[in-house]
Order: sequence, then C-alpha cells, then structure tokens
Amino acid sequence: MTANQNDPIQTLASWIMESSRIVFFGGAGVSTESGIPDFRSEDGLYHQKYDVPPEVILSHTYFKQNPAGFFRFYRERMLYPDAQPGPSHLTLAALEAAGKLSAVVTQNIDGLHQAAGSKKVYELHGSVLRNYCTRCGKAFSLNNLFQNTDDKGIPRCTCGGIIKPDVVLYEESLDQNTITGAVQAIHQADMLIIGGTSLAVYPAAGLIQYYCGHRLVLINKTPTPQDGAADLLIHGPLGSILSQAWQACLTSLAAGTSRAGKDGNCQ
Ligand SMILES: [Zn+2]
Repeated sequence: MTANQNDPIQTLASWIMESSRIVFFGGAGVSTESGIPDFRSEDGLYHQKYDVPPEVILSHTYFKQNPAGFFRFYRERMLYPDAQPGPSHLTLAALEAAGKLSAVVTQNIDGLHQAAGSKKVYELHGSVLRNYCTRCGKAFSLNNLFQNTDDKGIPRCTCGGIIKPDVVLYEESLDQNTITGAVQAIHQADMLIIGGTSLAVYPAAGLIQYYCGHRLVLINKTPTPQDGAADLLIHGPLGSILSQAWQACLTSLAAGTSRAGKDGNCQ
C-alpha cells in the first residue's frame, strides 16, 4: 500500500495494522508534551542566567573543569522528576504490548518511555535516573543523587568521589551496546516512525540509515533535513497523531475482528 497524503493518519493506521516490528525513533519533541523543554531551544531567561551555551556546559570538558557550574545547570534545566508520560509515550507502550512495536530508540534521558510501560528502550544518550560515583562506581538513583553535596553543590559519594549522571555528555562516546541494539532493531524493522526530532544531532540521527524498509514515517511539527526521504510525512503534534492512528486501529479491530484476520488492516 502506498502513502495516502490526503489522509495520513488513516495511512499510518493501516501501516501499523500491517506491521509487527515497528521501531520508533524519537527526540526532544516526545518529552516536550510532558512539559520537559528542549534545552537546545533558546529563551531570554537562559541567556540572562548562563554565560555559555548548554552544549558547552553539557560537555565532558566542562564537567571536569567546572562541576559546580555543570550541576547548577543540570539541576535547574535537565531534571523534571514530576514529569509524567505523555500521549506519545503511552501510545508507544500500547503498541509494544499489542505486539506491533519491537523497540523505542530515544535521544531523551528522562526515562518516561519506561514509566509509560515500554520494555525495549534504547537510550542513546543515557538516563538521568542512573548515576555513578566516578571514583568507586557506586550507583545512585535520581532521588539520592543530591542527598550528599559539598559546599559547592556537587554531589558526593560516601567515598568522596563526584557522582556523575549516566548521561552521554558532548565529547563523550555513545554506549556501544546501546548503539548495536538500536542498529539491529532499526535494521530488522518493518516500519520506522521518526518523531519529535529535528534529526540534527549526530551520531544518533545517522542511525536511521540502517532502516531498509519502505515505510519510513516522519512526524514533526517543523520540517527536517530528512523530509524528502519519508514515505509518509506528517507535520503536526506527535502525541495526538500517534494516538489518533492507534485509536483508528483499535476501532476497526473492534468493528471487524473476523475480517481483520483476512485482510489485516484498518480499511
Ligand atoms: Zn564512591
């Protein structure tokens, strides 16, 4: 079936019904629906408070040279412990539970996919929920990361070492096992849905080249450099589009369970 750009949500629903190894590749736009802002989006407040860009503060060099400055920014800008999964997180978890989706690959570090119930999640940039002592390796949850800070506000382990979030900083390599798993999932996918990312951050954005199917779906509020490569392109709010498509699938499944066994789609 080819893309019907006149009714993209119905096309997306049909493709979901015909798929069993969907991979979702997502970025900051997935979590902005949960009230977590994209730190790359600049605002006036940011420029008043910090004299260097977030990409510099979130670098390995800056962490080493100015851990106090790093943790000030990190605490104020990167942590949203009260955020709840949004419509995209919930729909993707439902797709996995229904045997439609094989993996989520995310650039986000907030753990909200797992909070929504997703089991197979490749976190390319790590997670704020995991933290380790840089000296002895002891693990800390987000809740007890700042339990013991020094006079500069730097979290310290009982051994005295600085605790570092398990987040991939600029200048650091992505975890090899995570990349391998994500590449395999994308390579084996029968449909790749890319959502909420401008596809501007490498090497993460380069992973989509491993997809070799013919159902590349791109959902984003604004155009991306990869728009031309999409088999189905939808400019709009990700969570609403995904949940509408999934609802259309559920509705037609409920209406014609006997027929769905024969043609297996939403028509
Ligand atoms: Zn330690």
